[in-house]
Amino acid sequence: MRAYRRIYFLDKKLDDYRANGKTIGFVPTMGALHQGHLSLIQQAKEKCDVVVCSIFVNPTQFNDENDLINYPITIDEDIKLLKSVGCDYGFIPSVKTIYPPNLETRLKVNLGFVGTTMEGKFRPGHFDGVIQVVKRLLDIVKPDVLFLGDKDFQQCIVIEKMVQHFGLPIEVVKCATIREKDGLAMSSRNKRLDKESRKAALLLSQYLEEITQKAATHSLKELINYYYNKLNEHPLIRVEYLDIVDSIELSPISEVGKVTSARVLVAAYVGGVRLIDNKAMHNFVVS
Ligand code: AMP
Repeated sequence: MRAYRRIYFLDKKLDDYRANGKTIGFVPTMGALHQGHLSLIQQAKEKCDVVVCSIFVNPTQFNDENDLINYPITIDEDIKLLKSVGCDYGFIPSVKTIYPPNLETRLKVNLGFVGTTMEGKFRPGHFDGVIQVVKRLLDIVKPDVLFLGDKDFQQCIVIEKMVQHFGLPIEVVKCATIREKDGLAMSSRNKRLDKESRKAALLLSQYLEEITQKAATHSLKELINYYYNKLNEHPLIRVEYLDIVDSIELSPISEVGKVTSARVLVAAYVGGVRLIDNKAMHNFVVS
């Protein structure tokens, strides 16, 4: 594994592979790597000849300055983990490298409702920052396949729309969420949970699971209200949203009528740490 900070050397290296017809898989991350990230790299290794993982804490996607300041940074440990799973290249650029002066930063992608609901509503400007950084990273790495985690379900849809909008010749592969043994979705932010908050955080995945199991036999509105209040009653939890939506356009399913693919998503502060999670509601049909 070789780690590059500069575009020039990475590009030169990747050009050799391109010239030899090798496929490049790309896994963008913000570091503080865990098994969730590593699973993306493993899937990239299975599908592609060469795997590049970027580590860049993108300032433009943080709508809350404290969240950015407190974002965990563990570069040395990250590099060891990348080596342990056989990642070929790390790309660890500075902010100046990603955002040089004169870079066109105002990328307009029409996301429609997907851009304004849930994360779009509670983190204004967040997806603008995500689009900006992912487009820039894709322009630099020029991968054949981009690997994203389902854990950030809405982000996956936003990035797919962006790839489509710019007509980029890149396949997007969505990878399943990796969880701790007890069910908590792995997240770099979990490192910031104290003991009590870690316990409380488990309720997110537990309640999502209960909702998926009860959905066929209960009113969805009542289910959501019930679990929203149950989460909010916990002294360490403050829910931002808990929604059941169709998996493609993210519209609330009561408005869609019949859907075959639904998803339940949650965002909540737990002990001051913002966590998100979601689960598929398989073969779920609303009539
Ligand atoms: P992040 O470093 O949080 O920006 O995440 C980088 C990539 O890893 C994104 O595509 C995430 O969706 C993905 N990811 C984060 N957590 C998990 C997880 N628990 N399981 C699978 N993928 C994940």
